[in-house]
Amino acid sequence: MSRHFDYLSIGAGSGGIASANRAAIRGAKAAVIEAKAVGGTCVNVGCVPKKVMWYGAHIAEALKYAPSYGFEIEQTGYSWETMVKNREAYIERIHGGYKRGFEGNGVEYIEGFATFVDANTVEVNGETITADHITIAVGGRPTIPNIPGAEHGIDSDGFFALKEQPKKAVVVGAGYIAVELAGVFHALGTDSHLMVRQDRPLRDFDRDIIDCLLVRMEQDGPTLHKYSEIKKVDKQEDGTLCITTLNDECIEDVDCLVWAIGREPTTDKINLQAAGVEADEQGFIKTDKYQNTNVKGIYAVGDITGEAALTPVAIKAGRLLSERLFNKDMPDAHMDYSLIPTIVFSHPPIGTIGLTEVEAVAEHGKENVTVYASNFAAMYNAVTPHRALSDFKLVCVGKDEKVIGLHGIGEGMDEIIQGFAVAMKMGATKADFDATVALHPTSAEEFVTLR
Ligand code: NDP
Repeated sequence: MSRHFDYLSIGAGSGGIASANRAAIRGAKAAVIEAKAVGGTCVNVGCVPKKVMWYGAHIAEALKYAPSYGFEIEQTGYSWETMVKNREAYIERIHGGYKRGFEGNGVEYIEGFATFVDANTVEVNGETITADHITIAVGGRPTIPNIPGAEHGIDSDGFFALKEQPKKAVVVGAGYIAVELAGVFHALGTDSHLMVRQDRPLRDFDRDIIDCLLVRMEQDGPTLHKYSEIKKVDKQEDGTLCITTLNDECIEDVDCLVWAIGREPTTDKINLQAAGVEADEQGFIKTDKYQNTNVKGIYAVGDITGEAALTPVAIKAGRLLSERLFNKDMPDAHMDYSLIPTIVFSHPPIGTIGLTEVEAVAEHGKENVTVYASNFAAMYNAVTPHRALSDFKLVCVGKDEKVIGLHGIGEGMDEIIQGFAVAMKMGATKADFDATVALHPTSAEEFVTLR
C-alpha cells in the first residue's frame, strides 16, 4: 500500500500539528504521523500537565494565605491521585479536540513510527508514504546522565506518570524543568530538594531576577543544594534511594529522584541518513530561517532544531512554513526568532523578554545601556505574614532608550508580560513605557513607573 500527500509532518506535537492544519487550510492534501500520543511533549508530558500542577501549587499557597484574609479553614489532606485523575481527563479532552481539528481541516492522522526511505518517502506500519513536502517535527526527550544508579531516577515523563505523591524528592538540574518540578513538589507538600552544579539555577536569566528567586526559595521553596553533583545512586532495602554527591554529601530516604538536566533530539531512529538530512553532532537538525534543511522539500520545526525549545515557537514556525509553501500571498513567511517572551513557572513565576543586563552590556557596551529596576512586596501577600519580594527590570539601549530587555519575578508575572512583548516587538522606548498610564493597584504597573 502507498499513499501520496502534498504535505507530511512527522510528529504530531505542537509544531507538526500546527503546520499540518495550516497546510490543509491552505488547500494542501496533508497528513501527520505520530508514534505516541497526539499533542507531543507539551500536551502530554510538558506544559499542559505542568501548568495544571502549578495551579494546584498556587491553590496550596493561597490556602496558606487564607487565614490572614479571615478564612477559617481546616485542611485535612491532599489527594495527588485526584489531581492526576482530573489532569489526565483534561488531557484526554485535548486529544479529542486535536483529532476533531484534523477531521475538520481534512488532515489525515496516521498512528505509527515513521522512518525515512528516501528524501520524499517514509515508511510507517509497513506502508510507504510519499510527499512533496516533509517536515520533521519529532521533538526531544529527556537526557539521563551516565552515572552508577542513574536508572533508579525518573525523568520529566516519569514525573507526570507518578501515581502517588513522593514524600522526599530530589530534582537534579538547573533549567526550567528542574525549577518548575521542584517548586511544584514543594508547594504540594513533598520534602523537595533542588540540586544544581553551580551557584544557582537558570544561569542564563537576568542575575537580579534569579537572586530574588533564591530569596523566595529560601523563605518558602525547595531546599537548594549548590555546587552539588551526583556521584552515585544506591537503592536501599526499603526501596528508598541514597544519593551520594561528588563532595561525599549523602541524601537519604529519597523516594523520588528526577533527572532534569536537559533534553536531547530524537533524530537517531528515523533513518535521517536515507533522506540525506544533516544534523549537528548532538542530533539537532540544521535549518535556515525558512526552516529549510539541506535537502530540498524537507523542513524541520520545533525542539528538533535546537532553537528556542518552546511550544509557541514551534507553532508559529510550523504555521509560517505552511503559509510560505501553500499561500501564494506569503512567499517570504518565516519565523522571527528575536524577542521571544518566555515564562518559568517557578514560585513565583519569572517572565523574560529579550536581553539580560549582562547580555546587553556585552552586545552594546556599558556606556550605551541604561537599566531601570525596582522591587516591592506585592499587595497579595503584603497583608499576610508571608511578605515576599517581586523584582522588575527594564534594560534599555541608546539615547532613545529602546527597551531591549524586560525581566520580572512575582505573582502574576506569567500573565503580565505578553502585552509588553507586543510593545517591544514594535520598538517601544522607555519614554513610551512612561507615557502609558499605570493600572493601579497591580504589579504590572511597576514596568511603566520605573525610575
Ligand atoms: P535546560 O537545557 O534548559 O537546562 C538544563 C540545565 O541543567 C543545564 O543548563 C545545566 O545548567 C544543568 N545540567 C546539565 N547537565 C547537568 C548534569 N549532568 N548535572 C546537573 N545539572 C546539569 O533543560 P530543561 O530540561 O530544563 O528544559 C529544556 C527546554 O525546555 C528549556 O530550555 C525550555 O526551552 C523548554 N521548557 C520551557 C518551559 C516553559 O516555557 N515554561 C518549561 C519546561 C521546559 P548548569 O550549567 O547551570 O548546571
